[in-house]
Amino acid sequence: MDGGWLIAALAVALVVIGLAWRRAVAERRMLLAENTRLRREGQAAQARLAETGEELTGLAEAAFDALIVVDRERRVRVMNAAARSLFGAQETQGQSFITVARQHDLDDLLAAALSGGEDLDRQVFIGDRPFRARALPLGGEARYGAVLALQDVSELQRLGRARRDFVANISHELRTPLASIRLLLDTLLHNALPDAGMQRQLLEQIAVETEALSQLAQELLDLSQIESGQVLLKLVPIRVADLISEPVARLATQASHKRQEIAVDVPPDLTALADPHQVGRVIVNLLHNAIKFTPEGGRIGVRAAQGKGDEVMIEVWDTGVGIAPEDLPRIFERFYRADRARGGGGTGLGLAIAKHIVEAHGGRIWAESELGHGATFRFTLPAA
Ligand code: ADP
Repeated sequence: MDGGWLIAALAVALVVIGLAWRRAVAERRMLLAENTRLRREGQAAQARLAETGEELTGLAEAAFDALIVVDRERRVRVMNAAARSLFGAQETQGQSFITVARQHDLDDLLAAALSGGEDLDRQVFIGDRPFRARALPLGGEARYGAVLALQDVSELQRLGRARRDFVANISHELRTPLASIRLLLDTLLHNALPDAGMQRQLLEQIAVETEALSQLAQELLDLSQIESGQVLLKLVPIRVADLISEPVARLATQASHKRQEIAVDVPPDLTALADPHQVGRVIVNLLHNAIKFTPEGGRIGVRAAQGKGDEVMIEVWDTGVGIAPEDLPRIFERFYRADRARGGGGTGLGLAIAKHIVEAHGGRIWAESELGHGATFRFTLPAA
């Protein structure tokens, strides 16, 4: 081979090497770029994953319902704050569900969801509270475990019961006076009553029953307005003596019919921040009961004093029949009457109304009594 061929061959080889080099460099650049892109995507995906994880943890922690995720062996993977507080558990991760929750019904429900792969929904009791429990398999054939959601339905059930009781009570309260009126009218219409005095007596009884019906209608209206927050309090600084004097004057005649005198003991300089009209209704209701449940000649009264902190305390007391211990916690409920036979025609709404009014002022109301030894009703108002 002469020198010319050698040079030509070398030149070709150099060109080939040069081209290969350039391709290798280009490929390396591409690989590097691809690598950077993949790394960035990986970082972004990781950030998104971390964000989703935080969102899911936040959602679970903020939920009012108890939420638990278990693996296929029913070991706890996630237990939110509501569930931890329900079961009184601290460290739960990796522990068996039954050890943490000590609820066999729920453990069985989870086992059923894990083996059957179905979404199960039923009611269980935890302590004495009813819960709606739902167990949901995660992934096909529950391969990632299962989630359990627990909703406390005790309040819902209580409201349902209260609504049914309320309707039953109203029907009862309406039926009784209506039945009396019908009976009295029948007597007037179908029996020839020779005696005009007798007729008048029946008509007066009809008037009494009609009055009871209109009082019931009025109190129901008052209660629904107060409960729905439609009554706006007009709070003014006022002397407690002035708050009390009007209701006492209004009920003095009624008390004197039973030879009762209302004793008033209120420091003249005591002041409260109150709506005089609404607080007047509270005092009238309490005094009305004191008169009603105290025999003829008994003593009743109103007292007021500076309470704890920024409070004024007003007290209506009597020396009447008193309230049995089992009735005391219930007398502020709508329609609750301790002894209907003895009540003398109340509606059972007066104390419920009083409670709403006092609480709307930011105060408290309660009763103390011993059967046969009178009753004392106390409530607080903000001091002025
Ligand atoms: P009402 O007086 O119309 O029945 P309330 O809501 O005012 O309704 O009172 C509820 C029940 O609380 C009364 O039926 C009575 O059993 C009891 N009660 C309230 N005040 C007194 C009191 N001063 N003495 C004894 N029992 C009372």
